[in-house]
Amino acid sequence: MGRLFILIVLVLVAVWLVRRTLARMNEPEGRAKKDGTAAPEELVRCAHCGLLLPRAEARQSAGALYCTEEHARLGPTQGPGRR
Ligand SMILES: [Zn+2]
Repeated sequence: MGRLFILIVLVLVAVWLVRRTLARMNEPEGRAKKDGTAAPEELVRCAHCGLLLPRAEARQSAGALYCTEEHARLGPTQGPGRR
């Protein structure tokens, strides 16, 4: 009888701990998602390789946007018809 009682208490404590942990994990995540959807990210194209990326992650150099510091240094490509 004593063993069973301890087992039940342990299970109840475990369930309580899991529920509390899940509630704590979900709370900031839900807020972050709400903030993320509130500000839609605009996609811009890298002037060097043409990659689409969020404007917040783009590097601006000489009036053009690039995906990385390296592409900003290399500058815009000259266009497709250059042979
Ligand atoms: Zn690029």
